[in-house]
Amino acid sequence: MTKEAQSDHRRQLPSVSRLLETSAIKSLIESEGRPLILKAIREELSRLRVQLPNGSDSYQISVENIAASVAMNMRNRIDQSIKPVINATGIILHTGLGRAVLPKAAIENAVRIATGHCNLEIMLETGNRGDRQAHLQSLLSELTGAESAAVFNNNAAAVLIVMTALGAGKEVIVSRGELVEIGGSFRLPDLIRTSGATLVEVGTTNRTRLTDYANALNDRTAIILRCHPSNFRMIGFTEEATNTELAEFCRQHGLILVDDLGSGALVDCSNTGLEPAVTVQQSLASGADLVTFSGDKMLGGPQAGIVVGNRPLVSQLISHPLARAMRVDKITLALLETVLQLYLNPERAGSEIPTLWRLGRPLAELKRQAQRLVKLMKNELPDRYRLEIIASQSEVGGGSLPGQTIASVAVAISDDRGKIELLAQKLRTGSPPVVGYIKEDRLWLDMRTVSGDEVTLLAEALRDAGANGEV
Ligand SMILES: *Cc1c(COP(=O)(O)O)cnc(C)c1O
Repeated sequence: MTKEAQSDHRRQLPSVSRLLETSAIKSLIESEGRPLILKAIREELSRLRVQLPNGSDSYQISVENIAASVAMNMRNRIDQSIKPVINATGIILHTGLGRAVLPKAAIENAVRIATGHCNLEIMLETGNRGDRQAHLQSLLSELTGAESAAVFNNNAAAVLIVMTALGAGKEVIVSRGELVEIGGSFRLPDLIRTSGATLVEVGTTNRTRLTDYANALNDRTAIILRCHPSNFRMIGFTEEATNTELAEFCRQHGLILVDDLGSGALVDCSNTGLEPAVTVQQSLASGADLVTFSGDKMLGGPQAGIVVGNRPLVSQLISHPLARAMRVDKITLALLETVLQLYLNPERAGSEIPTLWRLGRPLAELKRQAQRLVKLMKNELPDRYRLEIIASQSEVGGGSLPGQTIASVAVAISDDRGKIELLAQKLRTGSPPVVGYIKEDRLWLDMRTVSGDEVTLLAEALRDAGANGEV
C-alpha cells in the first residue's frame, strides 16, 4: 500500500462525534456512562489507525461497524471472569467449582451486613474496642461442646497457626499414614516445616501403634497431630492408635493433641448411605485438645478454617501475630454465623444447607428431574445425539469421605459421530457454563448437584451447545 493510500484510509475513519450519534453508542452511554464509552471509542479509533496501514481490508470502515465493535469490546469487558456455573459433575463439594453452595439465609445476612456498617470490632454496650473472634465463640461452643473457638481464612491457615503458635521450635509427631497432600498445595510436611516446628514421623504407612508415638517422645515434643487422610483411603492390613488412647497419652506427658479433621461434619450423615465419619463433637469428646476443620466442606458454609477446643490454647492462637494475617472479614463471619445458627435446628440444617440437602436428595426425585431435562430436550438436539437416563455415582468431594459414593441419576449423552468432547466443551464455554464429565464415550450430567431451578437453564445451554456443535 502506498503512503497516500494509508493516509486515505485514516482519513476515512469517522470522528468521535459521529460515532456518538449512532444508536448503538447512545444506548451504551445510557447504561455505562459517557466517560467509559468515550474512552472505548478513542481506543477503538487509535487501534484502527495503527491497524489499517497493514492492509487489513476485511474491516469495513463504516460508522456502524466501528460502533458495533466498540459495543462488543464493552460487553467483553463487562462480562465477568468469575461467573455462575451449573455443576453437573455430581461432586457436591467440587473445589474447582467453589465447594459449598451457601444457604439463602446466609446470603441474605451477608447482604445485610455488607450494605452498611456493623459491630465487627466494637462492643456496643461500652463503645470499647471488641474482638471479631468473639462473635461466633458461644455458637461454636454450643454446637461442638468446645470451651472456645477461633476462625481463620481457611483450614490450611488454621493448621499453620496452630503449628506455629504451639509447635515452633518444638517437635510435632505425625503418623506416617497421615502425612498427606491435599489439593496440590496443602502438604502436611511442608506446612509443618513452614511453621518452624520439627516434624517427627512415626510408624509405617499402614500401621502406627501407641508404642510408636511413645518411642518418639522426648523433652522437645509438644504436639501430636492427627490428620484426616481426606483424599485417599487405606484398606486391608491397617492399624492406628485411637483418639482416646492418644488423648490419654498426651495427658500423661503434657502434650497437645490436635486433630485436623479437614471436612469436619457437625452432623452424622450416615443416613444418606455414607459410612459414619467422626464429627467435630466426637473428636473433642474423645479428648482432642484442638480440632480444626474447613468452613466450606461438609459444614456447607463459606471458606474458613475453624479451630475449636481448649480455651487457653485458643487464646494463644488468637493473640499470635499470624492471626492478624489470617483473620476473616465481616462477610465471612456473617455467612458463617447464619450457617451455624441453622445447625441449632438439625431439621432446618438438613433442608436449608444446600450441601446437606444435596447429600440427602432421594433417587426418585433425581430421576424425575432427569426425566424433566430429557423431555425439555425432545427434538431440540441434532439427531446425532442420544440421551439416556442412567444410574450414576455422586461423590462428596472436597477431600471428604474418599472412595465413598452416593447412588445418583444422570442424563448421559452420546454422539453418533464420536465427538462428545466437542459437546462437553461447547457446554463449558456456553452461557451459563455447564460442567459434566466424560465416561465411556458419553457426557454424563449428574442430577444430584443440579438444582430444580437450574434444569430449564441447563436445557437451554444444552440446546445452544448442540446447535453450535453442528458447525
Ligand atoms: C481440606 C483439608 C485441609 C485444607 O483445608 P482448606 O479449608 O481447603 O484450607 C486441611 N486438612 C485436611 C485434612 C483437609 O481435608
